[in-house]
Amino acid sequence: MTSMTKRIFHSICLVALTVFLASLVLIMGVLYEYFSNVEQAQLKMQTILAAQGVTNEGIEYFHDLNVKNYRISWIDAEGNVIFDSASDTAEMENHLEREEVREALSSGYGESRRYSATLMERFFYTAQRLDDGTILRLSISQNSILTLLLGMAQPICIVFAIALVLSVVLAVQISKKIVKPLNGIDLDHPLSNEGYDELSPFLRRIDSQQKQLWGQKAELLQKENELNTIIGSMNEGMILLNQKGKIISINPAAAKLLDAGTDCIGSDMLSLCRNLKLQEILAKALHGEQGENIIRLHEESYQINADPIISENVVKGAALFFFNVTEKEKAEQIRREFTANVSHELKTPLHSISGYAELLKNDMVRDDDKIPFAGKIYDEAGRMIRLVEDIISLSHLDEGADDMQRENIDLYTLADKAVQSLEPYANAVCVTLELSGVPSVLNGIPQLLYSVVYNLCDNAIKYNHENGKVIVNIQNENNAVALSVQDTGIGIAPGHQERIFERFYRVDKSHSKAVGGTGLGLSIVKHAAKIHNAKVEVKSLVGKGTTVIVTFPK
Ligand code: ADP
Repeated sequence: MTSMTKRIFHSICLVALTVFLASLVLIMGVLYEYFSNVEQAQLKMQTILAAQGVTNEGIEYFHDLNVKNYRISWIDAEGNVIFDSASDTAEMENHLEREEVREALSSGYGESRRYSATLMERFFYTAQRLDDGTILRLSISQNSILTLLLGMAQPICIVFAIALVLSVVLAVQISKKIVKPLNGIDLDHPLSNEGYDELSPFLRRIDSQQKQLWGQKAELLQKENELNTIIGSMNEGMILLNQKGKIISINPAAAKLLDAGTDCIGSDMLSLCRNLKLQEILAKALHGEQGENIIRLHEESYQINADPIISENVVKGAALFFFNVTEKEKAEQIRREFTANVSHELKTPLHSISGYAELLKNDMVRDDDKIPFAGKIYDEAGRMIRLVEDIISLSHLDEGADDMQRENIDLYTLADKAVQSLEPYANAVCVTLELSGVPSVLNGIPQLLYSVVYNLCDNAIKYNHENGKVIVNIQNENNAVALSVQDTGIGIAPGHQERIFERFYRVDKSHSKAVGGTGLGLSIVKHAAKIHNAKVEVKSLVGKGTTVIVTFPK
């Protein structure tokens, strides 16, 4: 029996037995009292009749009296028994103290009920006073209620047994009926169940809690996904460690950097990377101190930040971040070199200017030489101006050229302007300059696009042969505008082709200086192209000529 069945069984049993016992007591009590009263009344009648007989016949009345169930006694006024149908009169005690006798003596009639010593029997007594003052008493015995109950023991037991069996059967069935809809509840869809009405609040509660749980689960999942996506797509490496320095989490960037597999979770950081600097800042972080250092991994420089994870004033672990600073370092290197180069480049013309000026000041120049000297000073100053202009342009580009406005502009018109302004110079060095192609509009910064065309044409003229040729062509392609500047000049050897875009890099320094180069022209081209997402290609054969093609996406 399940505990529910047991409880129901107990309740049914209790109710059944209580009802049974209550009705038993009630019915037995009422009936017993009723029949007792009837019997007493009959006894009274019989006493009155017998009293009549005794009054008429005296002691004779008793002689042929045949009484079986009754006991009849005749008592004189002093309480002595004159006749008794059940016992020997001589041995009988005085009856004056008997309740019914006392009552009869005083009022003419008396009655009483008494139980036997064992309580198994009850006696009814009625007493009538005769005219001569004697008392006639009749008594009859009746089974007591206890005897009646004892007599009914068997049927009572049978009823008990039936009640028990019925209770068990009923309890099992009721509990089955109660439990069946409960067991059948579809907890995934609480509101779709058709149980009994009492279950509705319970099911509604489950439904609302379930919805709340689903909502929370979805939110958590989304947050986890977001976090994983962010951490996973980060270019920076990130490793989380517990307070013992064991890896809890590592993102793909860090795993790749340290050549770690997914199985490294839970292993010691030492087993992944034995770099001393890293171990040092990690140990610091695990003692609650922030640390950073730069280490080399895979031929690149990484700045590592180690931050302690502190919760409630206790170090719970550490977070390591790997930032690739190779580019930054390179840029810093380039900037340092650039500053050194700029100083050097400026120093040379300044020295010549100051040398020539000193000679002129001290009047140490022949009159014939004065004009060529002044020309040299002018040339050097011009070179310095070009250099300073180029440096200003470059540093402007370095800062991103954010202040310059983009607009839709026709590259052909721009190229035409540049060609026209270079025409006198080309003529002077006997180089023909030609422009071909079609008008091609693109969105860009006009000043920068102009300097791209200008610098490329300038180089094509500078590094050309006498009677050489420069062809500038603008082509409008599907998604791009292509500018090509082709010359028939000295060409660039393959080893130099990559490097000519570096700042102050020249293939032949003295030649570049002789033709007025600053070493910055192509750097400006490269930078301006980058700002326009354009691609720069160089095709060159030494002694045959060079073609530079810049392709601007539209
Ligand atoms: P420069 O002011 O010296 O011309 P650039 O940055 O414009 O500086 O060019 C870098 C170097 O590339 C030049 O010094 C030259 O040696 C080489 N170069 C550039 N353009 C050409 C070309 N069209 N033909 C041959 N060499 C070239």
